[in-house]
Amino acid sequence: MFNNLSDKLDKALHVLKGHGSITEVNVAETLKEVRRALLDADVNFKIAKSFTTKVKEKALGQNVLTTLQPGQLMVKIVKDELTELMGGDAEGINLSGNPSVVLMSGLQGSGKTTFSGKLANYLKNKKTKRPLLVACDVYRPAAIDQLHVVGDQIGVEVFSDRGNSDPVAIAKAGVAHAKSNGYNVVIIDTAGRLAVDEAMMTEISNIHKAIQPQETLFVVDSMTGQDAVNTAKAFNDVLNFDGVILTKLDGDTRGGAAISIKSVVNKPIKFIGTGEKMEAIDVFYPSRMADRILG
Ligand code: GDP
Repeated sequence: MFNNLSDKLDKALHVLKGHGSITEVNVAETLKEVRRALLDADVNFKIAKSFTTKVKEKALGQNVLTTLQPGQLMVKIVKDELTELMGGDAEGINLSGNPSVVLMSGLQGSGKTTFSGKLANYLKNKKTKRPLLVACDVYRPAAIDQLHVVGDQIGVEVFSDRGNSDPVAIAKAGVAHAKSNGYNVVIIDTAGRLAVDEAMMTEISNIHKAIQPQETLFVVDSMTGQDAVNTAKAFNDVLNFDGVILTKLDGDTRGGAAISIKSVVNKPIKFIGTGEKMEAIDVFYPSRMADRILG
């Protein structure tokens, strides 16, 4: 995960290791490389710039107050700032309703159906939760089949209505089915398209209004870098979602989406997807991710 970014940051921070103290000059030199590493990882230019400005202020300010070596101090400051940028503390999902309704949103191929299954499996394994999956992609019969395959795999019921072309009605019926059958979590998988368009936004917004979910999650493919951030913004403008699910972090992703998304939409990344299997789901901890990035 993020190997390229980790290598480059390591090299950038190495510059200070040979120095006895932090100076304006060696900090500037180091941060130029840090900024370059972030830009190469597809972090937005403004974010990279404000990040290095903050690190610089801290480094020059803290220098005299610490016993750490300059190299160690810089690593610590960069780690703290990266953690902050990615969201500070980990945030869970709101499952306070009965049933709690979780609405999935995102583009086609982002990993919504896979993540719906992963989340259902994750909650089912917690024993106190009895999840129901609801298939609201009315455009692709294969999408409904796919959710049934996932449901069978993890032993979770899937509610679908193949003859019905109204996703709002299916979502409502799914929630009603959960209520009358003792399910305490309803996970609604929706249709995405290949790019942001008005029809998709209107549809997801209508489902959102009709079922008023406790938790609306935006699922995004981390491999799409800056596009991931732009798509997040478009969905957030319409849905004011509660959290982000970053998928495909097992792939050769550069890291830009993970680092930038929180500061652009001001919503936390809640879970990450790290593979195609149902078990490949992790809670997102900004500090652990920063540790991983900095090795
Ligand atoms: P949807 O169209 O948003 O429902 O996306 P899907 O759930 O169908 O996922 C699209 C593709 O991405 C499928 O081939 C999934 O197996 C794959 N996929 C989903 N999540 C992950 C992940 O975390 N890692 C990897 N490597 N593949 C994933």
